[in-house]
Amino acid sequence: MIDLKSMSQQEMTELLRSMGQPAFRGRQVFSWLHRGVASFEEMTDLPKALRERLGTDCALTVPRLERKQVSRLDGTIKYLWELADGNCIETVLMRYHHGNTVCISSQVGCRMGCAFCASTVAGRVRDLTPAEMLDQVLFTQLDAGEEISNIVLMGIGEPMDNLDHVLKFLELVNHPDGLNIGMRHISLSTCGVIPGIRRLGELGLQLTLSVSLHAPDSETRSRIMPVNRAYDVEELFAACHDYFRKTGRRISFEYAMIDGVNDHDWQADRIAEKLRGMPGHVNLIPLNDVVESPFKPSKRLAAFQKRLESHGVTATVRRSLGGDIDASCGQLRRKAMEEKEAAGCESGE
Ligand code: SAH
Repeated sequence: MIDLKSMSQQEMTELLRSMGQPAFRGRQVFSWLHRGVASFEEMTDLPKALRERLGTDCALTVPRLERKQVSRLDGTIKYLWELADGNCIETVLMRYHHGNTVCISSQVGCRMGCAFCASTVAGRVRDLTPAEMLDQVLFTQLDAGEEISNIVLMGIGEPMDNLDHVLKFLELVNHPDGLNIGMRHISLSTCGVIPGIRRLGELGLQLTLSVSLHAPDSETRSRIMPVNRAYDVEELFAACHDYFRKTGRRISFEYAMIDGVNDHDWQADRIAEKLRGMPGHVNLIPLNDVVESPFKPSKRLAAFQKRLESHGVTATVRRSLGGDIDASCGQLRRKAMEEKEAAGCESGE
């Protein structure tokens, strides 16, 4: 089966031309797919024979809505989608004054092993295709009936561990005949996979890079983030400086505050020292309590923020959304998997 929705418009045009179709067909089919049609039958301006041919040769993915939770506190919506192979992924829609942001997953599970994160508990199952990432945006938009203006690749998975598909996805959502979402409205978060950061830097895209820092010293970082043993935080800072030099884009550093682990003043001082020469932004996140993890939320957010600011580093405390709906970091998927296990069903993994 051809994964048509993962194709660029040019690839679609070539495929359709190889089926004896005129050049404009590629654009037509691309536009339909990026509106989230559920079948080729809906592509009413295509000849019937072509619709039938596409129906037999190509897969048209439509995720099934397995579960949906709406926060009573702030209207945040969490979606659990079931993919064609039975795997489940999470997507979150956050409503801000400046527009709607969708937080999408890039993999089924994650193999990075961060000690505080629920997404990685059961490891990585597989990468998502560009179409499966696009579908999260399309079908969230259709379900909510509201336009999505921003995308953050901050759901389950490590985008740099699936970078080819992620780059293709970016090309798709950026296309004027598709969702037409500008790079400046897109953020990509990584736990610090340096070759990925370097590759992205070479491309010079105008998206916002977020780096999940969580500790500025090797000892602490290796303890909570195994990725640090492969890509040490000193090299990570160097890669970030290079990235800024190449792209001119300010990097955002995510920092989940963990009681007694990464919330000491000397660690704020170290961050400031390492960011010197680069306009970074530190986003302090109240740690979400994850049942599987021994870590507890820090009570030093304000003090840590002040310490960073005393060194001239911009720091904000992230407003937490959807606190009543398991909206963060793989929690809903974990819960659904556990319920299925308890009920003795196949979890699809
Ligand atoms: N793999 C990428 C994308 C995930 S983004 C990355 O690591 O950046 C999800 C963000 O939430 C990351 O910054 C991650 O470190 C953070 N996170 C994970 N578990 C958390 C928890 N329990 N509390 C607060 N933040 C958490």
